[in-house]
Amino acid sequence: METKYKLTCVDCGKVYQSDEVEYVCPLCSSTQRPLTPTQGILRVDYDYAALRNTFSATLKKNLMRGHGRYLALLPLNDVSSLPPLDVGPTPLCEVLRLRQATGLNKLFVKNDTTLPTGSFKDRASSIVVAKAKELKKKVITTASTGNAATALAGMAASVGMGTVIFVPHNAPQAKLAQIAMFGAKLVVVKGTYDEAFELSKQSTEKYGWYNRNTGFNPYTIEGKKTAALEIWEQLGYKAPDKVFIPTGDGVILTGTYKGFYDLKKLGLIKKIPQIIPVQAVGSAAIVNALKSGRDQIVPLKKSQTIADSISVMAPACGNWALSIVRDTLGFGLTVTDKEILTAIKELAGLTGIFAEPAAATAYAGLKKAQRFHKIKRDETVVVLITGTGLKDIPTAMKAITIPAAVEVKICSERVVW
Ligand SMILES: [Zn+2]
Repeated sequence: METKYKLTCVDCGKVYQSDEVEYVCPLCSSTQRPLTPTQGILRVDYDYAALRNTFSATLKKNLMRGHGRYLALLPLNDVSSLPPLDVGPTPLCEVLRLRQATGLNKLFVKNDTTLPTGSFKDRASSIVVAKAKELKKKVITTASTGNAATALAGMAASVGMGTVIFVPHNAPQAKLAQIAMFGAKLVVVKGTYDEAFELSKQSTEKYGWYNRNTGFNPYTIEGKKTAALEIWEQLGYKAPDKVFIPTGDGVILTGTYKGFYDLKKLGLIKKIPQIIPVQAVGSAAIVNALKSGRDQIVPLKKSQTIADSISVMAPACGNWALSIVRDTLGFGLTVTDKEILTAIKELAGLTGIFAEPAAATAYAGLKKAQRFHKIKRDETVVVLITGTGLKDIPTAMKAITIPAAVEVKICSERVVW
């Protein structure tokens, strides 16, 4: 039967029908070892020749809210499968003060803090919950550093689907509160994110739940790609030159690339932007491999950073991310926790956008790239801000000082800025 899309293994190139496999390439995943990058990740390929002449024209007439407007390029049969929470378009902000401060005339911030549960992960969770509905699954599960789980719990709550969430015990309280508030069954694992990832995979096999694990489920990448489709529309149907992406597992990176990849396949852009991952120094498996010229990730023995959302030892999509960065002539950057804290405050003060530590990592990377003279002043540059700072107040408080309480009387000293 002719289906809407096929699945191609990014490791061995084998092509599968959409209903033939659920998660990863059976051949490549047969040698998967625990706590290593996911093998046999599947890329969703559409009938680009058939869509080439229709996608853009149809989109221009489509006034629908949320990323269901890209249905032709989504792995879903029906837009009504999507949860009722609108996902995007998020603002592509013309950050005038940040442009002045950096001297970059065409700098934009993609503000995904405005998504329903406050992070970029709503994009993936929305699509996976819709897919689960179409597959008539009753329970959906994920492992997460926090945001993906929160997004899944929220999206599932909106359609009444059961969720089981595995999170490491050190996830910020605000994220745990969000997950529990949405009614998910929360399993707090006495271990790392990578160990929670393994546990959720084993539970999927044992209990037959639908698994949303990032990268492992190919539709997470399809959800994340809608950020790129939005950027293209918002820039007047053009691709930017560079995109700075906070990077842990490498799936936001892969998803963003995939959106531009689809547009290029459709002949709607000439070139995919340079993809630039920014990682925390203490959790930099992907950038380490880029810098040392390896084409395979070497998992870290431990991961340590205040940017919990990108704290990963064995990035799920790490190996694919490496080839993407190289193919697009991008480069990788690392930033320290101190630089991340400074970036949170500076970004907030210059744009009004309060980013969580992982999200501010992308901006810290932009500053570093400038120091290394890697950006031209007139290039179109987009920084992805992937989660709100309200998700991790204790860390943000390290970057600021709250003044002591004063007596209830008007201040006699003149306030000087
Ligand atoms: Zn394969």
